[in-house]
Amino acid sequence: MVSRVVFGRGSFNQLSDILSPKRLNVKAPFIYLVDDVFKGNAWLTSRISLAYADQVIFISADEEPKTSQVDQLVEQIILSHKDRPSGIIGIGGGTILDLAKAVAIMLTNPGESKDYQGWDLVKTPAIYHVGVPTISGTGAEVSRTTVLTGPEKKLGINSDYTPFDQVILDPELTKDVPKDQWFFTGMDCYIHCVESLKGTYLNAFSQSYGEKAYDLCKEIFIDGDGSKEELQDKLMMASWHGGMSIAYSQVGAAHAMSYGLGYLLGTKHGIGNCIVFDHLEEFYPEGVALFKEMKEKHNIEIPQGICSQLSDDEFDIMIDVALGLEPLWENAIGKNWKKTITREKLKALYQKM
Ligand code: NAD
Ligand code: ZN
Repeated sequence: MVSRVVFGRGSFNQLSDILSPKRLNVKAPFIYLVDDVFKGNAWLTSRISLAYADQVIFISADEEPKTSQVDQLVEQIILSHKDRPSGIIGIGGGTILDLAKAVAIMLTNPGESKDYQGWDLVKTPAIYHVGVPTISGTGAEVSRTTVLTGPEKKLGINSDYTPFDQVILDPELTKDVPKDQWFFTGMDCYIHCVESLKGTYLNAFSQSYGEKAYDLCKEIFIDGDGSKEELQDKLMMASWHGGMSIAYSQVGAAHAMSYGLGYLLGTKHGIGNCIVFDHLEEFYPEGVALFKEMKEKHNIEIPQGICSQLSDDEFDIMIDVALGLEPLWENAIGKNWKKTITREKLKALYQKM
C-alpha cells in the first residue's frame, strides 16, 4: 500500500516540504515527470521548486506508457546526473503516474522493463517515488501495478515495490480537465467498481472499498450531488477507493477486452473501457444500464465502428490479448470461464464496437 498520503485542496503546496528531508545529497536530484499539458502553466509549475540538479521532464500523455519509453527515460536520467536520483515525482494522469512508478523501479533493477511485466518479478526496492494525480479515475495513484505496453504484451509490473511512497491528493489540480476526458477517466473508476463487486474474487476488503467508490460515482455522475469543487473532491476519493477495491480482487471482462483494443489500435484506457462496457450488458446488466444513464445525462458520444474495418488477423490479435488475461476472466465468470468465453464469442462482441 501507499505508505503516506496527504489530501486537500492546495495540498500540492506542501510538495517541497515533503521532499526536502528525502534529498540524499546535492548530486542526487529530484526528477519531476510532468504531463506536458502543464507546460507553460505557471499556476502549477511555479510550485515545483528546483534545487541543485533537480530536473523537470515534460511528457506527452497522447500515448500510453511503453516499456521502451521507460527504458529510454531511465537511460536519459542515468546519463545526465552524477548520482542516482533522490526521488521521482510523477504529476499527471494514469499515463504519467505509471511512467513514474516504472522509472523508479528500473533505476534500481537491472535489465529492461519488459522483463518485469508480470507478478512479483521485481527484486530490489525502487527509489523513493511520489505520485500527484491531476485527473481522477484510474486508481493508478494507489495501485500496486504500472501498466505498460511492451513488445509482446500489455501487462503491468505488479509488485510490492510499485506503489508510491507518498501521494499528494489535491483535487484542485483536476479543475481544467476537459469534460469528455473527465467522463472517460471517471468511468474507469466506475467500471473498476462494477467489475470488482460483480466478480467471483470479491471479498470483504474489496467490497468495502468498492461499494464506497460505487456510491460516490452515483453521487457524481447521476445525482450531481454537490458543488463543482465537492464533486472534484469526491471523484478523487472514488478513484482511490476504486483502486483499493481492485487491489485485493481483479478487474473483469471490460478491462480484458479493452486491453485488446489498446494493444492493436492504441485506444486509450478510459475511452476503450467505455467502448467495450457499452456492449457488456450480458455480463453486467445493472452496471451497464447505469452507465448508459450516465452517458446520456452528460451527453457523451462513445466512438462507434472502430472495429468495422479490421481483418480476421487483427481480430485474432485482439482476441489473443484479451484471452491471455486469464485472472480477469476467472474473476468475471468463474473457474469454468473457458466454456463460455470462446474466440467466436469475443469476435462477435468486438464486431459490435
Ligand atoms: P491520461 O493520463 O492519459 O490523461 C488523459 C488526458 O488528460 C491527457 O491528454 C492529459 O494530458 C490530460 N490531463 C491530465 N490531467 C489534466 C488536467 N489537470 N487538466 C487538463 N488535462 C489533463 O489518462 P488517465 O485516464 O488518467 O490514464 C490512463 C492510463 O492509466 C493508461 O495508460 C492506463 O493503462 C493507466 N491505468 C493504470 C492503472 C494502474 O493501476 N496503474 C489503472 C488504470 C489505468
Ligand atoms: Zn482501469
